[in-house]
Amino acid sequence: MPRRRGRIALDTVQPPHPENPVSGFTLAYEGFDSNQEGVREVLTSTGNGYLCTRGAAEWENADGVHYPGTYSHGVYNRETTILGGRPVLNEDLVNLPNWLVLQVRAEDDEAFRLADVEVLSYRHALDVSIGVVLRDVRYRDRVGRETALRSRRFVSLADVHHGGIEWTLTPENWSGRVQIVSAIDGRIMNSGVARYGQLEGRHLNPIGPRTFGPEVIGLKVETRQSNLYISQAARTRVFDGDQQLDAQRRLYQMEDYIQQVLVFDVRQGSSVRIEKTVAFYTSRDPAISDTLVKAGTSARRYLDFAGALERHASAWEEAWRVCDLEVSCDERVQLLLRLHVNHVVQVCSRHTADLDAGVPARGLNGEAYRGHVFWDELFILPFLTVRMPEVARALLMYRYRRLGEARSSARDAGLLGAMFPWQSGSEGVEETQEVHLNPVSGHWDPDLSRNQRHVNAAIFYNIWHYYQATHDLAFLRDYGAEMMLEITRFWASLAHFNAERERYEIHGVMGPDEFHEKYPGANEGGLHNNAYTNVMVAWLCGIACQVLSLLPATRAKALRDEFQIGDDELRRWEDMAARMFVPFHDEGIISQFEGYEALEELDWDRYREKYGNIQRLDRILRAEGDDPNRYRVTKQADTVMLFFLFREEELSSLFARLGYEYRPDTASTNVAYYDRRTSHGSTLSFLTHAGVLARLDPGNSWRRFLVALESDVADVQGGTTKEGIHLGVMAGTLDLVQRMYAGAFIRDGVLCFEPRLPEELERVSFAMQFHGTPVHVTVTHDELTLSVGREGVTRPIRVGFADDVQELAAGQSCTFQVQAPGETPERLQD
Ligand code: BGC
Repeated sequence: MPRRRGRIALDTVQPPHPENPVSGFTLAYEGFDSNQEGVREVLTSTGNGYLCTRGAAEWENADGVHYPGTYSHGVYNRETTILGGRPVLNEDLVNLPNWLVLQVRAEDDEAFRLADVEVLSYRHALDVSIGVVLRDVRYRDRVGRETALRSRRFVSLADVHHGGIEWTLTPENWSGRVQIVSAIDGRIMNSGVARYGQLEGRHLNPIGPRTFGPEVIGLKVETRQSNLYISQAARTRVFDGDQQLDAQRRLYQMEDYIQQVLVFDVRQGSSVRIEKTVAFYTSRDPAISDTLVKAGTSARRYLDFAGALERHASAWEEAWRVCDLEVSCDERVQLLLRLHVNHVVQVCSRHTADLDAGVPARGLNGEAYRGHVFWDELFILPFLTVRMPEVARALLMYRYRRLGEARSSARDAGLLGAMFPWQSGSEGVEETQEVHLNPVSGHWDPDLSRNQRHVNAAIFYNIWHYYQATHDLAFLRDYGAEMMLEITRFWASLAHFNAERERYEIHGVMGPDEFHEKYPGANEGGLHNNAYTNVMVAWLCGIACQVLSLLPATRAKALRDEFQIGDDELRRWEDMAARMFVPFHDEGIISQFEGYEALEELDWDRYREKYGNIQRLDRILRAEGDDPNRYRVTKQADTVMLFFLFREEELSSLFARLGYEYRPDTASTNVAYYDRRTSHGSTLSFLTHAGVLARLDPGNSWRRFLVALESDVADVQGGTTKEGIHLGVMAGTLDLVQRMYAGAFIRDGVLCFEPRLPEELERVSFAMQFHGTPVHVTVTHDELTLSVGREGVTRPIRVGFADDVQELAAGQSCTFQVQAPGETPERLQD
């Protein structure tokens, strides 16, 4: 297909054509598919921002197809594996005891499992609106008994320590005795990611079981190294209508497992309901003594399933009021956006604000990347900051609490300030592995990705944008400024002045593109002058100089005294803000790093033809004995990130400050150049390219946006979703609609809009919170309407479209006529 100037062909990724599992407010799968079960378990997880459980069937154990998994923020454990004689230490987010276990046995038969029966019908769904996972199964067992089983389950968004399961069991052509097995299983390992199979997966030691009266069983375990206690308790009851059945109960317990068997009779055609309501506590919780006693007593006191579900559903209603993004376009787009909202809330809800929680890149429903926290916050916080600022603040506090470790890491590297790790877990020390298994070759290759120091620029960016959106001066004063200053100091100590160039340079780091870890054949890791990093550093040095002036004078002085920030140091930051080196080649192409242009071009067509999907070219090249470092191939947006994070006017003034030319076509030529050389091996890359193309090529942007939107639901990387959602992409699609299509941004304390809805998107509307004031935004191709509610308003806010800035107080709204850039906007009404 001929390429038109300025247009970028979608040539590396085909838009997916998955089966359509989404309709209404429901993600639903008809029929069981063992190959898809892992993906479905992840997509139908239920969580509340504290605890999250995969959508695994209650009656199944981990067996290669099914993988019950429950995870809670901050419950990490470290274990050492001896690999080829070498000790390898890893910290993992721990898969916790399985509270789901519920099995049915007709008469004395084996417990029901799909594999042992003839399945007459099967449906597995997530009700996105209220976060309930559903399964409807009808089956015929080997003696011809036909049974219908309906399961509903949730982790409560209202009552953070609780969850519940309800089974409705109908014997369709038989009557007889039934046994229900209800258990808590502590014999759990982390084994959800095949690549990590050789690594130690045992993280739990048993403490013991216990009962709390006849109906409640409980189990306590302890993480093996981090010594966290985790306890769960379950109350299981059987009902015929409203009438609780007096089932006979048998108890069986071991040190790491407890079960109750409820025995009762069922009649043909008559349904019984089994309820299992659960309480969950860890020793990280506030207001806790013994986690097991707490779980047992709470389980005993808790509501019945219906009452608990009602509270859960109304908490979701409230969450939607804050987080919903309504779009008028293809129905599937709307539903996938809502699915993404649902998953963001499963990991980051208002409950998260109370926790010491970072945001794991893969959410809380899988074990990929071991539950570590990366720079992905950069894609997640923009959505949260303007909806649940208290949650964004908590996620930034996760970093603040680890500032001490970041300082030690900088010191250990011979640097100043604070150097946050590329992968962070419990304590904020570097958790990045030193070796990484290449599943294509089966070899363990060195992993140099810890050199992605740009995570420190991302943390700075997040703090600054949080402050811009909230004006939370207390946060800036007490925590934010300190982190910003220490991060700036780190960069200033890493940079050196090249007197010949009269510019500051940074060597030995990697950009976001993980295919380039070092120069070909080099022994040392890292590259010289990664453009993304250097421009970020120039930007943040400029901001760091302003931060002290925003603080109360006494606090600014205290910070300067405590950290001995002298005038010389401030002058150096100012100088870096104006004299960071940015490499260029050809006509106005920003080199991803110095020397990028000297690398070989790859024959993309040959690789595509040979391998089909070449998103993970690094693994392919390495398996061939080659090295991605040799080529101009990029895993994901690197230089292009600049156009994603900064608006055109910001970048052009930043480049002007640096004394570099920024041309009207700088964005389009650079995006086109790198797009041709990017394999989009991280799903974050679809999102970034969709974002930057919103202005340059709306049709293309929309196609990329659809790929990003589908990336988990269609598992576009062919097997990664079952290891956990890609939270950065999910939240990023929501941010893309608000920031790139509705065009929301903050300038000089004004909430501004520059809408550029693609043709396919007729209308967008959503709620935001700006400087503590709720504002409702509606954008169409013709109009932008902003209205401030009457509730919770603390002060009037300033909003703007083009150069027209208005003040809106409680109950006021205004509509701007959206016109092509360059024309004078017209405000229609106040
Ligand atoms: C990407 C990183 C990202 C990490 C976690 C990697 O594949 O290259 O940019 O931070 O996944 O999502």
